[in-house]
Amino acid sequence: MITNIPTADELRLVSLRLFFKAWADTANIITEWAEYGEWATESQQEDEADSPAGWKQYIAAAQSDLQAIFTLIQQSQEIGLKASICEVSPFLLLKRTDVRPTEGEQNVWDFTDFPTLDASELIRVHNMFCSTTISKEFQFKYDEIRRGRNKISHLGIYRKSLEPLDIIDILQLHYSELYPGRRWMEDRLHFAALGKWVDFQFDSDFNERTGLFNELWHLIPELTDDQFKRLMGHERNEKRFVCHECGYDAGLGNAEPYVTDVPTAYLVSEDRVRCVICDVEYPVKHVTSCPVTECGCEWQSAQEGHIGLCMECGWAPEEWQESKRGQRDI
Ligand SMILES: [Zn+2]
Ligand SMILES: [Zn+2]
Repeated sequence: MITNIPTADELRLVSLRLFFKAWADTANIITEWAEYGEWATESQQEDEADSPAGWKQYIAAAQSDLQAIFTLIQQSQEIGLKASICEVSPFLLLKRTDVRPTEGEQNVWDFTDFPTLDASELIRVHNMFCSTTISKEFQFKYDEIRRGRNKISHLGIYRKSLEPLDIIDILQLHYSELYPGRRWMEDRLHFAALGKWVDFQFDSDFNERTGLFNELWHLIPELTDDQFKRLMGHERNEKRFVCHECGYDAGLGNAEPYVTDVPTAYLVSEDRVRCVICDVEYPVKHVTSCPVTECGCEWQSAQEGHIGLCMECGWAPEEWQESKRGQRDI
């Protein structure tokens, strides 16, 4: 008999952990530049500052980080494909069976001692046995990444320059191909919470939702229109609204980003918005115009706990009046 047989869920969990590690590291490279790039290029000559030169220098210096991300992605893709094959039968993953039994036992073998299929074989086996087929587009990317990863791992030399936004493209395609039926935002929150400190309680306002808001705040403006649509589920030019529930849960309000910096909801009908993070629809009420001067938003929350709050600037009309009065008194 064979012991230690992996399950599809177990392998998929490993693949997703690697995926979100790669995502977080890539997002970090983009958002750090968005946050500090301008400040870092201040001392450069006028025509260099704010030009692509600074970004190019930054990305050139980030190549070893990006290569490490590349190898994480390859590992995640390999294990993700193995998870789908394992769903049909874990034994399809075995390459050979000429393996010694477990030490001290007779007729007992450990699954993890067996050589498993080569990475280059996985898509062929997947498409033969699984009910879904891997697209040609992903197949092409997968092979390219696998070859690149081999160069990085075996020689440490990879001459192609890696761009973070290209990696976001790869990761978005990867997620839709390898984990169909899952919801990205929910997984992002879940895997962000599974760090080294998962079993510890902190008395802090920071949670995985705060982390996600921080990430989206600087990442969203850098994404292409296609990447935005894949991430947020609607077109970039569609009007976006605040999710008061998510903002409250993330503890936003005392410092940047404010909930209004990262609107995550959009209209789904005349009187409802849906938030892409919590995936909940909330009632809204149409008004002539937000009473707060520069906002002009025509929607207020009709959700219990947030009634009357503007869906764009987040203010409650009476609080705004109050703050105006306060300013006059000073
Ligand atoms: Zn929400
Ligand atoms: Zn407003």
